[in-house]
Amino acid sequence: MRELRVLRPWLLFGLLVVLVILLTARDDLRQNAAKSSESAIRYVVFDMLGWSPREVFIWRLRLAGLVDSPLGQQWIGAVERANKSPFQVGDQYRASEAFADDRVEAHVFQVTLERGEKLIWQLSRLDASGDRLYASLEHREREGQGWSTVAELSADGATSSSLVSRSGDYRIVLQPELFARLEYSLAIASGGSLPFPVEAASQRDIGSSFGAPRDGGAREHHGVDIFADRGTPVRAVMDGRVRTGTGGIGGNHVWLSSGLLGLGGARYYYAHLDSFAIESGDRVKEGEILGYVGNTGNASNTPPHLHFGIYSGGPVDPAPFLKPEPVLPER
Ligand SMILES: [Zn+2]
Repeated sequence: MRELRVLRPWLLFGLLVVLVILLTARDDLRQNAAKSSESAIRYVVFDMLGWSPREVFIWRLRLAGLVDSPLGQQWIGAVERANKSPFQVGDQYRASEAFADDRVEAHVFQVTLERGEKLIWQLSRLDASGDRLYASLEHREREGQGWSTVAELSADGATSSSLVSRSGDYRIVLQPELFARLEYSLAIASGGSLPFPVEAASQRDIGSSFGAPRDGGAREHHGVDIFADRGTPVRAVMDGRVRTGTGGIGGNHVWLSSGLLGLGGARYYYAHLDSFAIESGDRVKEGEILGYVGNTGNASNTPPHLHFGIYSGGPVDPAPFLKPEPVLPER
């Protein structure tokens, strides 16, 4: 016990020394470090301590004694300055922008997204300089709260995506290192994350939304109603296992379980079916026909429709999931 107590300060001191060495590995602020040490720093600091590469750069400024200089202060404050009037991103956005080497600024692209939506982006460098561009996707629940980093973006021109598991504001923040001159193009799009469950139907066919009162306000509608002709095929929104039932308010219904932890083991509920195309216990693939639209159960006095529900730690509004797939805008 006593030995451990003596050892612990030395261990902490040793870790601190390693950290400082990692942080100062690149003493020239204008030059890119070798890729390997860069990713080592990213791994150690971002993954273990939750610091983004941008925050690591601020630490470097601090160690270089630049953090209190007007330049250092300008660099650190650039994101919040840009955030006062961010580029508002709709469903689709494309920009080609540049950073000048005699100005200290950041660019912020903001969009509000709901759980179930998918954000996709493509970031490319248009210059050949080796100057570093800090790029991150950040989230906050609502205005007034702090931003937290969801992902670091690479400017490799590849299309990347992020599934929205928490509603709120999202922003893509771009900031070059000091004295950098660079150009980039950024394309962003948002949309749904699931294929539409009713053949040849779309969002326009949703007749009753999530949360609408039911039974005179005694309960809420825990799904969406998608109206279609009787007999229209209803399809699996993802790979999984199905369980069928025939009674209760849902009439002929199917539970589809993804069986993956990705969405907290989400379950998808298809109700009021006219008939089934699968058997209980079957494994199905995304797009496979599960059954056909009808009005069984408590929908017998309603035109045929699919009641579609998503349950993941309670009922979740399916509408954002069912928006059209995001498509990046053309150049
Ligand atoms: Zn319904």
